[in-house]
Amino acid sequence: MRYCKHCEAKFDPKSQRKRKVGGRINECADCVEDLGTETTVKYLGCASADGKMGAISILAFESNEDRDQYKRAWDNNTGRHKGKSCHLGQSNTAMSGMKFRQVSENIMNGNHKGKL
Ligand SMILES: [Zn+2]
Repeated sequence: MRYCKHCEAKFDPKSQRKRKVGGRINECADCVEDLGTETTVKYLGCASADGKMGAISILAFESNEDRDQYKRAWDNNTGRHKGKSCHLGQSNTAMSGMKFRQVSENIMNGNHKGKL
């Protein structure tokens, strides 16, 4: 247990709510929300599958709005929770205009089983 530097209330830094709202280790979840001290935009991991391998890209966004917008478009366009109907239509969500940089990626090996 720790004491919050703003309101001096005792709080658990490992609680589920504290982990969700973020903030510094010496700030309670209520103060993080009230004062808006959490400014970090969390990384977004995008999983896809190429060939026989699962691929993942880790992206860093400048704002939570861009992150949410990209995640919604990614989920829609890759067919997450949509079964096999994902790529049959002409209506993919636009994925342009969001500012981000790539942190890391792990993509398929193009030389699968010796074929080019
Ligand atoms: Zn507090």
